[in-house]
Amino acid sequence: MATNRTFTMLKPDAIENGHMGKIIDMIIGAGFGIKALKYTQLTEAQAKEFYAVHAERPFYGELVEYMTSGPIIAAILEKDNAVADFRALIGATNPAEAAEGTVRKLYAESIGRNAVHGSDSDENAEIEGNFHFTAGEII
Ligand code: UDP
Ligand code: MG
Repeated sequence: MATNRTFTMLKPDAIENGHMGKIIDMIIGAGFGIKALKYTQLTEAQAKEFYAVHAERPFYGELVEYMTSGPIIAAILEKDNAVADFRALIGATNPAEAAEGTVRKLYAESIGRNAVHGSDSDENAEIEGNFHFTAGEII
């Protein structure tokens, strides 16, 4: 299992609020290379499948609605220790609890509209990357 890749989405609030350039700058500045990147909008079926692990959680319906509400950027990123380092860069799920200087502290609106996704394991990074990109789209 590769330990040097992670998967991210810049979520609809980040795009809507004009933060996509600043967040991509932070990602590159933190030493991540871009292996694949696309500007797209999730269908309801895609959002439901991507977040299927949360299907029983009370926020699932709202999460699917929000994640399909506007365009996102999906990307596969590369760096040593990518999953953990990226989670550190983005900060806690709830921006109120996120460390100073993290993406979510700077740009998230709320625990739901929290600007960015980051995979939580090497296994999920691979699954999530493959969900959004075909082999030929990965540099
Ligand atoms: N989420 C939410 N309410 C919650 C917890 C999570 O709306 O109480 C949303 C939020 O957008 C979060 C996503 O569901 O990023 C996935 O939740 P997870 O616990 O996996 O957080 P993450 O891994 O994104 O930090
Ligand atoms: Mg998660």
